[in-house]
Amino acid sequence: MEKDFEVLVIGAGVVGLSIAYELSKKYLVGLIEKNKKYGLETSSRNSEVIHSGIHYPTGSLKAKLCVQGNELLYEFLKENNILHKKTGKLTVAVEQKEVEEIERLYKQGIENRVPDIKIIEKNEIKKLASEIEGICALYTGSTGILNVHYLMDCLYEKFINNGGIAGFDEKVINIEKKNGLYLIETEKDKYYSEVVINSAGLYAEEISNKLGFKYDIYWAKGDYFTISKKVDIPLLIYPVPVKEGLGIHLTPRFDGFLRAGPDVEYVQKVYPPYPNQKENSIFKVDEKKKEFFYKQIRKFLPNIEIEDLIPESYGIRPKLQKKGESFKDFVIKEEISGFINLIGIDSPGLTCCLSIAKYVKNLIS
Ligand SMILES: Cc1cc2nc3c(=O)[nH]c(=O)nc-3n(C[C@H](O)[C@H](O)[C@H](O)COP(=O)(O)OP(=O)(O)OC[C@H]3O[C@@H](n4cnc5c(N)ncnc54)[C@H](O)[C@@H]3O)c2cc1C
Repeated sequence: MEKDFEVLVIGAGVVGLSIAYELSKKYLVGLIEKNKKYGLETSSRNSEVIHSGIHYPTGSLKAKLCVQGNELLYEFLKENNILHKKTGKLTVAVEQKEVEEIERLYKQGIENRVPDIKIIEKNEIKKLASEIEGICALYTGSTGILNVHYLMDCLYEKFINNGGIAGFDEKVINIEKKNGLYLIETEKDKYYSEVVINSAGLYAEEISNKLGFKYDIYWAKGDYFTISKKVDIPLLIYPVPVKEGLGIHLTPRFDGFLRAGPDVEYVQKVYPPYPNQKENSIFKVDEKKKEFFYKQIRKFLPNIEIEDLIPESYGIRPKLQKKGESFKDFVIKEEISGFINLIGIDSPGLTCCLSIAKYVKNLIS
């Protein structure tokens, strides 16, 4: 039995593309994607924020890969002339009881070796973003924004230039180990590979379960609204984080408007995959959330009206934690020889795409 690939990556989101590109420098790599193009799911439905790494418990994979990934990503974006901006970010305390959390995040940031962070007072907040109200804030200089579509275009092109082979419109329906190789069956074809990497995002548990490694992924939707009024806020503005997410925040877009969101709403999983499911209510922005968004944003940006909020987009996070549970780390591991699982790659998965790729490379070499 002849192998078709040395490595086969399942899933062409930003993480699968990064892994495929990194490994194609050394191996013959196949990339299989069920949609007609790469990056049509979670990877093109997020805040496009390059996170600094302050939010994750020290020593966690998320903390380490985020700090490394932040640096690698800026280098890559610069080298390849991809639209991005190191804007910086403020996490703003609006009430006295939130100040303690700002101090905790600062300490955690220092322990995680996040560069360029400091706590600033009200008057300094005003200098950076005059419309923002707050008692104090944590400033992180390494936070920024990027255009994820251009990033994915670049990763894909480099992968193909390295001799990588991609198959689109090919859903993986079965995997088994046969005579020392993995047999990967899609709806169209069969492939043999020495190594299989499961980077299937929201559906990674399905792939993993086929080889007997059981995980439960929960879907947590996030909606976004655009603020249609032009407000001059050049950096990211976050509230003090809530248990299940980072809170409704403001991200400057490249067109000069602000994007508000995402919230966190646990939803039922829906099959088949989501670009074809427009009729289902989880696949559109819930306009009823406008009032909630307005109330949250007004805490630090009082000078807007509810009419300024326009429904924009949504994304769905693959989470390992159930509703109400606290932090769960990424799972990135070789389950059995040659089978690498990536499970629960929610935020900061985009920031970590290149550091995850290097981490996976080390697992197989
Ligand atoms: C609302 C929201 C906001 C976010 N904001 C940020 C942020 O600002 N910064 C940040 O760093 N991260 C952010 N994230 C997280 C980030 O978007 C994800 O971690 C990242 O996009 C995950 O990429 P991925 O390649 O693992 O998954 P995906 O993009 O989901 O890709 C997985 C791919 O696998 C394919 N696939 C699935 N099953 C099969 C199968 N059986 N056969 C073949 N192909 C299959 C899918 O079609 C899909 O294309 C956010 C996420 C959400 C939802």
